[in-house]
Amino acid sequence: MKGFDFEEERIKQELTRLNAKRVLLQMPEGLKPEAPRIAKIVEKTGAVAIISADPCYGACDVATSEAESLGADLIIHFGHAKMLKHEKVPTLYVEARATLTVEAAVVAAVPLLTEYKKVGLSTTVQHVQTLDVVREILVRAGKVIEVGDAGRLPYAGQVVGCDFSNAKSVAANVDAFLFVGGGKFHALGVALATGKPTVIADPYGGIAYSVGAEVQKILKQRYASIEEASRGKTFGVLVSLKLGQKRLEEALAIKESAEKMGKTACLFAVREIQPDVLVEFPTVDAYVNTACPRISLDDASRFKKPVLTIQEFKVISGESSWENLLKGGLFEN
Ligand code: SF4
Repeated sequence: MKGFDFEEERIKQELTRLNAKRVLLQMPEGLKPEAPRIAKIVEKTGAVAIISADPCYGACDVATSEAESLGADLIIHFGHAKMLKHEKVPTLYVEARATLTVEAAVVAAVPLLTEYKKVGLSTTVQHVQTLDVVREILVRAGKVIEVGDAGRLPYAGQVVGCDFSNAKSVAANVDAFLFVGGGKFHALGVALATGKPTVIADPYGGIAYSVGAEVQKILKQRYASIEEASRGKTFGVLVSLKLGQKRLEEALAIKESAEKMGKTACLFAVREIQPDVLVEFPTVDAYVNTACPRISLDDASRFKKPVLTIQEFKVISGESSWENLLKGGLFEN
């Protein structure tokens, strides 16, 4: 696939070094079209390749139990940087860095940053290698640049959908953020987590735009969801079966807290939190999602009932407040 580095040579070397015999390939949706080609590369080394066709949204979701059930001795996980501390099945991470140039998009972003002198940079793992170039262009445009490194993620400036610690670590020192990457989701996360104006430099389209209007829309929608949920009598607490998203202890605490408020609460174990899965439980008035917070925020309009994040539930239980969420807690589970 044009535009991403699949590190084919490293894959071959690692397969030989590890003497892998059966390999499970796992990719997020955008990279999956390349899976058959990579499978053939794996097979040339003499190993059996099996492609995981299930959805995969992050490195929190390494297909360990699938690999165990298939007897795979290696997982190759594409498109994300390592997140789990230990994997039960040896796992090779191929980050699939974008090979696109970012210059055009960043140059297009400069006029949108006119009002701001100090600019924080953030990006996903696909583009972390471009931050030096981005910095150079913006410094030439008279900006002072900050790239946060809070130490929780592998790369300075990197964000993932549930961890904006790098952006937050420099938020107090900057007037605005420039997010380098495609799609709005991560940039919205930066804006919501930091409360700062955020501009996207999208290298895929060579364009730039601000997410300000969208942030206001999301905040309105989240406030309405909290309001609606607070009137609910029966709560469903969603527990993920994905390795890096499983928060059973938090789910139990939420159930207890809901019951103390006089609500009925049930725990639901689920792999893919989809609207058609939740629709099967019409007596539940609102859900609390202890899995990926992105599900609550990204897919909100597709769910028939409110699906709150843990932090949003705390507004209902009185442990937090809407004002606190506005200070950046919305995405943190
Ligand atoms: S929990 Fe969600 S946002 Fe966080 S890494 Fe996993 S998929 Fe991404």
